[in-house]
Amino acid sequence: MPTIPPAENSRTVDLPLPHGVSRRAFLGFCSAVTAALALPEAMTPRIAHAVASAPRLPVVWLATQDCTADTESFLRSVDPGVGSLLFDVISLDYHETLMAAAGARAESSLDDVLASGQDFVCVVEGSIPLADGGVHCTIGGRTAVSIVQEVTAKALFTMAVGSCATDGGIAAARPNPTGATGVAGAVPGITNLVNLPGCPANGVNITAALVYYLTFRELPPLDAAGRPLFAYEQRIHGSGRCERYPFLQAGQTVEAWGDEGHRNGWCLVHMGCRGPSTYANCYQRNWNETTWPIGAGAPCIGCTSPRFWDVNSPFYVYRQRTTTSATSTSPSGDQPTTTSADDATTTTAATTTAATTTTAATAATTTATTTTVPPTVTSTGS
Ligand code: SF4
Ligand code: SF4
Repeated sequence: MPTIPPAENSRTVDLPLPHGVSRRAFLGFCSAVTAALALPEAMTPRIAHAVASAPRLPVVWLATQDCTADTESFLRSVDPGVGSLLFDVISLDYHETLMAAAGARAESSLDDVLASGQDFVCVVEGSIPLADGGVHCTIGGRTAVSIVQEVTAKALFTMAVGSCATDGGIAAARPNPTGATGVAGAVPGITNLVNLPGCPANGVNITAALVYYLTFRELPPLDAAGRPLFAYEQRIHGSGRCERYPFLQAGQTVEAWGDEGHRNGWCLVHMGCRGPSTYANCYQRNWNETTWPIGAGAPCIGCTSPRFWDVNSPFYVYRQRTTTSATSTSPSGDQPTTTSADDATTTTAATTTAATTTTAATAATTTATTTTVPPTVTSTGS
């Protein structure tokens, strides 16, 4: 496995602007990436210097059992006016969907990259089927699993983008007929793996992770599941995060699609929102820089959580949850949860306003004993 070189020690900011990009747009892009990385604004000059002057990062983007939404998300992660900046950051040497070449010529470009011995980043989008020798996904006559194993072994590091590449995603949902799994399952013992779950992965986070490496020459800090802390450390449910949280505290919850609460942006917990057990930064990094599911009136389905399809479905349905001990994991199988001020506040609101608000929000709270939370409202979804 290649080793990652040490960080460059450059803090000077004499910006050679990328061709055709205004200084204002360029600094806006760098400032947005700095914010996405949860770094102080003072780091923007260093990031700007790296984006403007560091050699472009060669990227090999493998698409396996996928729907291409992660590519779509990536390409729409910045204002189209500065979208070309992405390609000042990376050199997309192989991407089946975006490259002009097709068929044998496309496959030979991948062979050329691998034979060149150059450093490159491998991005994997989609799940990898292992059943029946991996024949359920073949590209150029080869199984996806054999391609992924070969390319990741030669890559500087690998980014699994989207929940399919992270742990199999929707393709791995029961009964998982193709034996779908993520990169970690297809490449046992892989190191230098960054997981960016989501369905799709947030394009801003894909860009930010690449820029982080370009700037610091090391991977961003990761959690135990290999997810960058800058994007997956915070639960979306809580004060200062979900914009509907104050309504929950006030006991105001949506009880039916299109009701007064729905029209007025109240909490969606009774409509099956899985925000209380979901860790992601989409409340800060909106899609198309415009909105996010909860902001648009849809409950969170917890698409960044492990095995989210099996664990969180049926979606849009409020359900009973059980909490166990202080060391238990959350109901979604996500990161271990601990009692926080947000939880305490939520529990108080739930118990002092109406029984109907004692819900999934409470389920994320850990207690010393096993507690079954009785459902009082069941949404049938739409
Ligand atoms: S994770 Fe979601 S968006 Fe990405 S390939 Fe799978 S189904 Fe598509
Ligand atoms: S339950 Fe969902 S909508 Fe309600 S506050 Fe939590 S994350 Fe927001």
